[in-house]
Amino acid sequence: MERSLIADTVGKVGQKVRLEGWANTIRDHGKITFIDLRDRSGIIQCVGESLKRVSPESVIEIMGTISERPEKLINPKIATGSVEIQIESLKVLSPAAELPFDMGGEDLNVDLPTLLDYRALTLRHKKQQAIFKVQAVIIDAFRQALLKKDFIEFQAPSIISSVPEGGAEVFKVKYFDHEAYLSQSPQLYKSLLVGIFERVFSVNQIFRAEPSVTTRHLTEATSLDAEFGFIDSWKDVLDMEEYVIRFIFSEVEKKCSDELALFDATLPKISDKIPVLKLKEAQKIIYKRTGRDVRAEKDLAPEDEREICKWSLEEKGSDLVYISHFVTKKKPFYVSPDPEDPSYAFSVDLLGRGVEWSSGGQRLNDYKVILEHVKEWGLKEKDIELYLQSFKFGVPPLGGFALGAERVTMHILGLKNVREASLFPRDMERVDLRFSR
Ligand code: ATP
Ligand code: MG
Repeated sequence: MERSLIADTVGKVGQKVRLEGWANTIRDHGKITFIDLRDRSGIIQCVGESLKRVSPESVIEIMGTISERPEKLINPKIATGSVEIQIESLKVLSPAAELPFDMGGEDLNVDLPTLLDYRALTLRHKKQQAIFKVQAVIIDAFRQALLKKDFIEFQAPSIISSVPEGGAEVFKVKYFDHEAYLSQSPQLYKSLLVGIFERVFSVNQIFRAEPSVTTRHLTEATSLDAEFGFIDSWKDVLDMEEYVIRFIFSEVEKKCSDELALFDATLPKISDKIPVLKLKEAQKIIYKRTGRDVRAEKDLAPEDEREICKWSLEEKGSDLVYISHFVTKKKPFYVSPDPEDPSYAFSVDLLGRGVEWSSGGQRLNDYKVILEHVKEWGLKEKDIELYLQSFKFGVPPLGGFALGAERVTMHILGLKNVREASLFPRDMERVDLRFSR
């Protein structure tokens, strides 16, 4: 008999079926045993008599007949709550050892190190699965949104020969007899490719040797990068990113209502247009609201980002807010300064629910000015030879942005730590498992 999926059992009342999956929970009532069976499509209650003992999480096959549950035993919480299966035979396909903690509850009550140390097991929990289903929809929506706008996807290299964006947070790798690095961002490649394809995007891993343990930094993260040419203004970049974000939210809303409900999560609110504040304006607002004078600072600190997001929600009805015009000299050499005041640049961060989601902006495309910046920033032309080659032969006015997939996932679902939004998070203390073990 062919295998049926659990989600399809509701339409198979009275039929004999073969189901395969994991024994999610087992309740033994003497002679009668209830097993909640889980497969990729859902969960169903199975009832049998005089069954041999099965351990939770074992992989099993059940043959039996689908029956309607009596009215008062219907479980509205699961999609198959109106039916159950009467077990006629049960086969263990792969037994599970004794679990180190209970997996059967609505929540997985373990601390973060345990959650990650037992990743191969904890990911089986439906709430853990839900995080990565949402993440897959976010990444797919990013792709779909840009494909609709005629962007082409590219693969950036992860091994690079130099680090023109600042070397403090970079991993060195031994590359045969040479030194190489793990890429912190596909920025230079994506700009170069605008000179070829006009509109490009990539979904790729970025590597940052973040020396501190925070709730928002991983050492390996997933970057959703987009870059495009023939822009008329830096605002075109903001509009494109806003379109992408709205598309992502609508896809998550459409495809992930069950997953959002598990986390009691609602999508971030966006007003008619995402508000835009210059860094200076944001600093004035912070001073006015809190009395903290950050007006001379060259960047926003994490508490400033939280305060501006509060302001945005209270005053503009938006969980998202753009901050533009960061200090030119604090940004990489390729940022385009604002001609009205070149000490500030057309560089933009998107903040959401208190944290940075993305950075982007307009880039320089004038070869001569790029060369001037390279000197001023103290870089070696040789280190960015390919990039310069591209602009030497003409690249249209361009801009783009990079969203962190884990950050977006985290803040859509209201997770406390970005590690929860990474399947196998890397940080200072672990590569899969903790170093101290
Ligand atoms: P932050 O200021 O929060 O450390 P950043 O400005 O260093 O971030 P960018 O270089 O602007 O980060 O990278 C673009 C986006 O990639 C960020 O807005 C963020 O969403 C994501 N990102 C960058 N670094 C990390 C990291 N270490 N862990 C998780 N996501 C990251
Ligand atoms: Mg940034």
